[in-house]
Amino acid sequence: MAQMLDEKLEPIFQEVLARNPGETEFHQATREVLESLGPVLVKHPEFAHQRIIERICEPERQIIFRVPWRDDKGVVQINRGFRVEFNSALGPYKGGLRFHPSVYLGIIKFLGFEQIFKNALTGLPIGGGKGGSDFDPKGKSDDEIMSFCQSFMTELYRHIGEHTDVPAGDIGVGGREIGFMFGQYKRITNRWEAGVLTGKGLDWGGSLVRTEATGYGATFFVDEMLKARKDSFDGKICSVSGSGNVAIYTIEKIHELGGKVVTCSDSNGYIYDEKGIDLALIQQLKEVERRRIKDYIEYRKHAKYVAKGNIWEVPCQVAMPSATQNEINGADAKILVKNGCIAVGEGANMPTTPEGVKVFLDAQIAYGPGKAANAGGVATSALEMQQNAQRDSWTFDYTEKRLQEIMKNIHELCYETAVEYGTPGNYVNGANIAGFIRVAKAMVALGVV
Ligand code: NDP
Repeated sequence: MAQMLDEKLEPIFQEVLARNPGETEFHQATREVLESLGPVLVKHPEFAHQRIIERICEPERQIIFRVPWRDDKGVVQINRGFRVEFNSALGPYKGGLRFHPSVYLGIIKFLGFEQIFKNALTGLPIGGGKGGSDFDPKGKSDDEIMSFCQSFMTELYRHIGEHTDVPAGDIGVGGREIGFMFGQYKRITNRWEAGVLTGKGLDWGGSLVRTEATGYGATFFVDEMLKARKDSFDGKICSVSGSGNVAIYTIEKIHELGGKVVTCSDSNGYIYDEKGIDLALIQQLKEVERRRIKDYIEYRKHAKYVAKGNIWEVPCQVAMPSATQNEINGADAKILVKNGCIAVGEGANMPTTPEGVKVFLDAQIAYGPGKAANAGGVATSALEMQQNAQRDSWTFDYTEKRLQEIMKNIHELCYETAVEYGTPGNYVNGANIAGFIRVAKAMVALGVV
């Protein structure tokens, strides 16, 4: 069952429910943060006085727009676009764009809300925002993707800018989509403004390591959690879900650190390869040929494909959910713990339900929540912005070292904050409290705006 809220926080949560009806993912994300904040209000009464929590739960701006485009048959299609500019106390709004048929305002708001605290944890000057569309890129031709992206940017361009709001990728938005959107932004504004989007191609303003950053960063975070327990990835059997950007580079870094990843998945099913996932094959299938994960077994005959199965039933010591929200429920978490899982690092945003989180915390395994564990993506986006501002490009090794340092710092901050607030080992509290305090202090300093 969900933890009780502090008596000051319960009415705030009730107000969130009343003001945002039907937005269940947003309710889930706000409740989780509020559950950590009771002790913070005791230490910092000024935050309650300034109504910081109420203000933080209300986006600064929410934009919803029509995205009309023409498919290859000449038929006009209509999608809905979103950009939620949630909080700019620490810097320009920063957060990805998600193109997936499940997208609606409640998903964008949960992601934008999480992004505020995640971005604060990086220590970099970035506020929180998120956007996207209910457009489904699956099965679309390159021309259709371009037509959609151009139409999407034709409205979005007026709301963004290098000092205002800087979108990036998320589910369904990778280098190809960022390219089409950057091209349209440049055309409309007549400005070659690199800092307006991150995740750009390396030839036109992108940063080395940005593509790998979320997966690498999540793996570095888990490595830090393991080190704090005098352990390491060496020889560990690991389970990764998803087979997109985050999953692929999580698999790569785990293998580099001596672990063996035996699973990956897409929305149709999962692969179990007891010899270890063949990363080059996955990259060829997913990044180059844009095929489905089931095709893996055509090339690796010993591997198994399980359609519609439960990936978390595969025994592992480290689990890294890297697909989507709420992919691990309470029952899945129990199975993971029972099978000997000692660490969970969330590459995806909010992949574990509140019941699942409780199971991990009660079992006292090392549980790294998404807003801390997957912050490497946005941190490297901020490094891309720094390079754009300096008209410079850094080497792969230097940028990866910066990413690794940032993840180490985030781990330390969450670890120490959890200790300071009387819940050692609880990275959920550590991340929520540390991220919140940084934003709250800035909001107090900036006045009632
Ligand atoms: P991609 O689009 O590259 O890959 C998403 C993967 O997850 C695909 O394998 C996809 O399978 C699977 N997936 C998506 N939706 C579902 C679903 N509803 N059910 C089952 N599987 C699903 O996205 P990313 O790798 O970029 O993002 C993955 C997660 O990481 C998301 O939660 C995202 O918010 C988070 N994240 C991403 C960052 C980034 O830098 N890209 C930064 C921080 C967090 P299929 O192809 O079948 O849809």
